[in-house]
Amino acid sequence: MSLTFFLTTALSTTGLQGDVHVHGHGSAMMAAEDNGRVEIILEIPAESLWGFERSPRTDAERQAISDARDVLGGEVFSFSARADCQLLSAEIGDDDGHESDGHHGSGHDDSGHHDVEVHYVFQCSGSAEIDEVSTTLFAHFARLEELESVFVDSSRQIGFELTEERSRYPFPR
Ligand SMILES: [Zn+2]
Repeated sequence: MSLTFFLTTALSTTGLQGDVHVHGHGSAMMAAEDNGRVEIILEIPAESLWGFERSPRTDAERQAISDARDVLGGEVFSFSARADCQLLSAEIGDDDGHESDGHHGSGHDDSGHHDVEVHYVFQCSGSAEIDEVSTTLFAHFARLEELESVFVDSSRQIGFELTEERSRYPFPR
């Protein structure tokens, strides 16, 4: 089954709306397939990452974006150790909000806001081994307050929030 199928299911059952833009609030949609492939689509307002949503005007602003991209492109999510997940790729949407794949359109809405989207792909030993997720994003981005999150696999659909205080979420059994 495809990620799109999982996420469509997840969105319809949790009411999570990826299009709402609130500073400090991001979303992380996670889907695990039975073969152990796990994908995460992370969406965070640019304001919550580097403090502004227009194009950078100074070297310092360009550096802030570059630093944030370095963090986002690394291992900011981790799963249960016994699931043995390896990060295969992390693709970050263009800084100007125009996603390179054209799939999600522009990250800018009519009021000039800008969301940054990152697509992570992991390979794990198996999705059934995943019983918790944690993130280091709050340690890196002080403006980020919460990530509204969904984890879906063939047998589970779990909605939860990750926050600075609760950056590790054990899945209920
Ligand atoms: Zn905004």
